Amino acid sequence: MSHDVVLAGAGLANGLIALALRAARPDLRVLLLDRAAGPGDDHTWSCHDTDLTPEWLARLTPLRRANWSGQQVRFPQHSRQLRAGYGSLEGGALMRTVTDAGAEILWNSDVAMLDESGATLKDGTRIDAPCVIDGRGAQPSAHLTVGFQKFVGIEIETEGPHGVPRPVIMDATIPQEDGYRFIYLLPFTPTRILIEDTRYSDGGDLDDAALAQASHDYAQAKGWRGAEVRRERGILPIALAHDAAGFWADHATGAVPVGLRAGFFHPVTGYSLPYAAQVADVVARLPGPLTTDRLRTALRDFALARARQDRFLRLLNRMLFRGCAPDRRYTLLQRFYRMPEGLIERFYAGRLTPLDRLRIVTGKPPIPLRTAIRCLRERPLLKETP
Ligand SMILES: Cc1cc2nc3c(=O)[nH]c(=O)nc-3n(C[C@H](O)[C@H](O)[C@H](O)COP(=O)(O)OP(=O)(O)OC[C@H]3O[C@@H](n4cnc5c(N)ncnc54)[C@H](O)[C@@H]3O)c2cc1C
Repeated sequence: MSHDVVLAGAGLANGLIALALRAARPDLRVLLLDRAAGPGDDHTWSCHDTDLTPEWLARLTPLRRANWSGQQVRFPQHSRQLRAGYGSLEGGALMRTVTDAGAEILWNSDVAMLDESGATLKDGTRIDAPCVIDGRGAQPSAHLTVGFQKFVGIEIETEGPHGVPRPVIMDATIPQEDGYRFIYLLPFTPTRILIEDTRYSDGGDLDDAALAQASHDYAQAKGWRGAEVRRERGILPIALAHDAAGFWADHATGAVPVGLRAGFFHPVTGYSLPYAAQVADVVARLPGPLTTDRLRTALRDFALARARQDRFLRLLNRMLFRGCAPDRRYTLLQRFYRMPEGLIERFYAGRLTPLDRLRIVTGKPPIPLRTAIRCLRERPLLKETP
């Protein structure tokens, strides 16, 4: 059977593209190829409700494993309830919806080679299509210099109610180790909670056992007893410098990259769900025939505009990683969380206004001015990448 669009990888980015495409252009035959045997349970994809357009929020809310009204942050000198809703999506639910929407997924399909007109699997099978998209997950890029957000999360079923009513996005009232350290809590049910020890570090090494133990210790300190039922780990890129034009010049031919692979993630959080939804809209709204090269032009334009808009977020990252002693990094976040709620929402949604940016950098500087000035320039950091 022939297809109009082939998507390599049945992950977050391609899942959202398939959903948006089938909704906008149900005439198109959409095929996803993934080397896994099926969707794993090693991921929950969360975001703030305000990160999404009303259309995407309406589309994803019924699929989410949990939807919460409000959230909290905790720092040594400041705690705050925030009004923005939060929600978590699971891979299984997303992929079921993708197939219900009429897209086809071929699991156990290891893609060996991609070009602009099709995919070749490891077993030699060739699948041709006029539009080929590469969403096979993160890949190092010479055009991106990163720090790391590393975490290990344990989900436990507690013997009694844990008493946490809504997500705690950051509990930084814990000893600061290996950079900015906080615990992230997602209370899926009154007796089921994800506890994630997270660190914003310079190095990408992750001691799984130590971070899992730290999460168990946190649970014990809170008096939560119970069995671990699921574990997740991640080492996410935090963008310090990005040359999007250089990246797209290197991808002038071949399949069109999307997702983490194309640098479509929030520079400060490493989260990609909101940006993946924006990319899916670009794909679904492209007028006329959907071909690899027409899509490349549209996504390159989107990527360059996104990278320009995110320049300020990368500057904040450089201040965090290069301008601040690792055990003082939390002070920048603590200060940020005193800002107006609308600004915080726009920050996570990647929609800061010029006034928001001014507001973030004015007032008593969180780091010495001379150090801040040293962080201004982005280009020199790109040279650090081998
Ligand atoms: C544990 C964890 C938790 C995270 N939580 C969040 C979160 O809460 N919110 C958020 O926004 N982001 C989160 N992220 C970050 C990021 O959004 C995810 O990593 C996201 O899945 C990236 O989307 P993607 O489509 O680029 O890649 P993926 O979703 O990783 O999809 C890539 C797919 O390609 C497949 N693949 C790879 N190679 C091949 C091949 N050769 N042939 C065929 N298939 C192949 C893989 O099997 C995989 O299914 C999390 C990351 C991790 C690791």
